[in-house]
Amino acid sequence: VNLSSYAQEILSTPKRNIAVMTSGGDAPGMNANVRAVVRAALFRGCKAFAVYEGYEGLVRGGPEYIREMDWQSVRGWLSEGGTNIGTARCLEFRERKGRLKGAKHLIEAGIDALIVCGGDGSLTGADLFRSEWPSLIKELLETGQITKEKFVKHQHLNICGTVGSIDNDMSSTDSTIGAYSSLARICQAIDYIDATANSHSRAFVVEVMGRHCGWLALMAGIATSADYILIPEKPASSKEWEDQMCEIVSKHRSRGKRKTIVIVAEGAIAADLTPITSKDVLKVLVDRLGLDTRITTLGHVQRGGTAVAFDRILATLQGVEAVKAVLESTPDTPSPMIGIIENKICRRPLVEAVKLTKQVAEAISQKDFKKAIGLRDSEFVEHLHNFMAINSADHNEPELPESKRLNIAVINVGAPAGGMNSAVYAMATYCMSRGHTPYAIHNGFSGLARHESVRSVDWLGIEGLGSKGGSELGTNRTTPQETDIGLIAYYFEKYQFDGLVIVGGFEAFESLNQLEKARKDYPAFRIPIVLIPATISNNVPGTEYSLGSDTCLNSLMDYCDIVKQSASSTRGRTFVVEVQGGNSGYIATQAQLACGAQASYVPEEGISLEQLDADITSLKTSFASAEGRSKNGKLILKSENASKVLSGQTIADIITEEAYGRFDAKTAVPGHVQQGSVPSPIDRTRATRLAVKAVQFIEEKDPLIHKFRDSLEFDSLNKEIAETASILGVKRSHLRFSSIRQVYDFETSLAKRMPKVIHWEETREVADALVGRTKLPKT
Ligand code: ATP
Repeated sequence: VNLSSYAQEILSTPKRNIAVMTSGGDAPGMNANVRAVVRAALFRGCKAFAVYEGYEGLVRGGPEYIREMDWQSVRGWLSEGGTNIGTARCLEFRERKGRLKGAKHLIEAGIDALIVCGGDGSLTGADLFRSEWPSLIKELLETGQITKEKFVKHQHLNICGTVGSIDNDMSSTDSTIGAYSSLARICQAIDYIDATANSHSRAFVVEVMGRHCGWLALMAGIATSADYILIPEKPASSKEWEDQMCEIVSKHRSRGKRKTIVIVAEGAIAADLTPITSKDVLKVLVDRLGLDTRITTLGHVQRGGTAVAFDRILATLQGVEAVKAVLESTPDTPSPMIGIIENKICRRPLVEAVKLTKQVAEAISQKDFKKAIGLRDSEFVEHLHNFMAINSADHNEPELPESKRLNIAVINVGAPAGGMNSAVYAMATYCMSRGHTPYAIHNGFSGLARHESVRSVDWLGIEGLGSKGGSELGTNRTTPQETDIGLIAYYFEKYQFDGLVIVGGFEAFESLNQLEKARKDYPAFRIPIVLIPATISNNVPGTEYSLGSDTCLNSLMDYCDIVKQSASSTRGRTFVVEVQGGNSGYIATQAQLACGAQASYVPEEGISLEQLDADITSLKTSFASAEGRSKNGKLILKSENASKVLSGQTIADIITEEAYGRFDAKTAVPGHVQQGSVPSPIDRTRATRLAVKAVQFIEEKDPLIHKFRDSLEFDSLNKEIAETASILGVKRSHLRFSSIRQVYDFETSLAKRMPKVIHWEETREVADALVGRTKLPKT
C-alpha cells in the first residue's frame, strides 16, 4: 500500500482518549475548534470526548457532562456561532476541591488528554490543574476514590490549550480564535453608525470589548477611519487625552467632516489608572466642542454570529495541531499552547504564555505603560503608530521639511479587490501627514494614456473611502505597454511624479515589470515604484497574501453556507460550486477548510477520474441511508481552471447519474459576488499597513535613485537601483520588499501567472482529513 507520510505518521502514533472543552467567554470559532479536535482525534484512531459547560462540566462529571463524540456529532458546526458544548465561569474549579472532583471525573471517563479552548483565565486553570495532577490523583487513591490500577494508568494528564477569546489579549500568539470575527462585527456596526452620524452631523462614542487589551479598539479604529481611540495600553493624563481628542476632532471638523467616531475600549484608563468611560468621553465632546453626541455600547453583539473565515481556519488548524501535540507529548514535555505566530501555527509553553499575559496587566497596574506596550507584538505598535500618524496630522505643518516633500501617485490595476480603496485612502492620508502631494490616477494605465486622468487628492474627498468596496479610482487590466508607454512617461514627467504606488494583481505585477524595464529609455520611470498586491486570486509572486483574498474568501464562505443550508434542507443534495481564482487554488482550498466542503478541485492538481470516482463513492456512502440523507448536504468546490474538460455542470451531472435517484447534484456559481461588497477588516487594516510602508519606502529610496534620474549612464543592472522597483509582500506576518527583477525573472511561472513556490499546499491535507476524504496519490 502506498501510504502518504501523513498516514504513516498517524498509524505510528499512540491512541488516546482525548477530551475537548470550551471555557470562559464564548468566541466565534470555538465550534470549529471542537469539530477539528473531535475529527482529528477520530482520524488518528483515538476516542474523542467533549466536556460540556466548561470546568463546570468537569466538576459535575458523568455522562451528561462528559460525552463521547463521533464523526457526525460535529457535522455543520463550522458555520455556527458561540460554542455548542457550552461554556461557563466556574468558581468551584478555582478551589482545589473542585479540581479534585474534576480529576476524578476525567479518570472515571477514561480520559487521558484534555484540550482546553479558552482565554487566559481558562488556560491558567488548565495549567494549574496539570501541575497539581500528581497530588490530586494521590489524594483520590488515598481516599479510595480511584483504584490503584487507575492511579497507575492516569499518572500524567496531557493538557493542551488553544486560545479562544475575542479580546486578542493572549501573549505568544498573534491572534486568538474569535478576535477577527468580533472585529468584523464591530466594523459592521460602526459602518452602520457612520451613515447616521453623517446624516445628523453627530458624534458617536462607541464602546467595544477589551478589558486589558486595546486590540479590538485599535484595529476597528484603523478599519473604520475613526477619529480617536482610547485603549488601556496607552493612557494619558485626563488633560492630555481630552486636549488631544478635542484638537484632532476639531481639525477634522474644520476640514469639513460631518461625523465624529471615538472608539473606547472597555478597559480604557487614564494615566492615574482611573477608568475612562464612554460617558466621560461624551461629556468632553459636548462640553468642549458642543457636538451632538451619542453613546453606542456594542456589548454582546460582538460575540455573536458565525465566525469569519480567518477564525474558522485558525480554529481548525489549531485543533488539528492540538491533537498532534497531545499525542506527541511525553511526561517531560511542558503543556503546550497552540498559537499562530507569523502566519504559522506553532506550539508555545502554556505556562510561559500565561505568565507573559499576566505581565501586561501587571505592568499596566504598576503604571509601566512602556513595558505593557512592549509586551504586545510589534504589529500592534506599528498599527498604533500608523493610526496616530494618519489621524493626528496637522496638514498645515507636516512632518517633513519642504525639500523632502514628494509628488506620489497611486493607481489601481487589474480586477477590483477588497482593500484597494483602503490602500488608496491610507496612502493619501499618510502622504498628507508627511507633507507629500498624493495624486490619484483614475482608470488605470489606459485612463492615463487616453486622456488626462490625474487628480490631486483632497482630504475631504476621500473621507470614508477606506471602508468602501471595489475601486473608486477605477481599475482595468491594461498594462503600460498595451497602451502607449511613451505617453505614460509623458504624463509622469508632466506631473513630476517622484514615486508610484501600484495596487493590483497579476497585471499590476506585469506593469511594474514593464515600467522597470523601460527605465533605461524613459527617465520618468526612474522613481521608486511599489506594488501592493491586491487580487482575490492571491497569485501575485513575491507575497503570500494579496489584498482582497480575505474579503473574497468571506463572501464565498457566506455564499457556501447558504448553499449548504439549502442542500441539507433538500436532504441528500450536493452543490458543485464554481470558484474564481485563475490558475490558483488558494481560494478554493481555504474555502474548503472554512466551509467543510467534501472536496476542492484546484488547477495545481487537476481532476483525475480516479479521484472523482473516489469522491462520488464517498458521497454514496454518506447518503446511503435515510438517516445519512437527513439534514445532510454536501459541497464540492471546483476552481474555474481545475480542468479543461470537466466543468462544474459536467461533474454535477456525473454525480446525479451515479446516484441512481438516491441523491442529486446541482451547480452554483457565485461569480463576481466573490469580489465582496465592503472589504473585510483584515483587508482594510492590512491595506493601511502596506500603504504606509509603501510611502516610507518611496521616501527612503528617493535620494538613491534621484541622482540617476537624468543621467545618460543610468544603470538598470545596479542591484540597489533595481530594488527601487519592488513588490511589497506579506511573508509570514512580516512585510518584505522584493525587487521585481528578482521575483519576475526567477520566482515566477509566467505561463501559469503564478509564483513558482506555493506556500499553502499543506493545508489541503488537513481540509481533506477533516471531511474524511480519501485522497488518492497523484499518478
Ligand atoms: P475570556 O478571555 O473570554 O474572559 P477566560 O478564559 O479568561 O476567557 P475567565 O472567566 O477568566 O475567562 O476563566 C474561565 C474559567 O477558568 C473560570 O470560571 C474558572 O473556572 C477557570 N479559571 C480561571 N482562572 C483560574 C485559576 N487561577 N485557577 C483555576 N481555575 C481558573
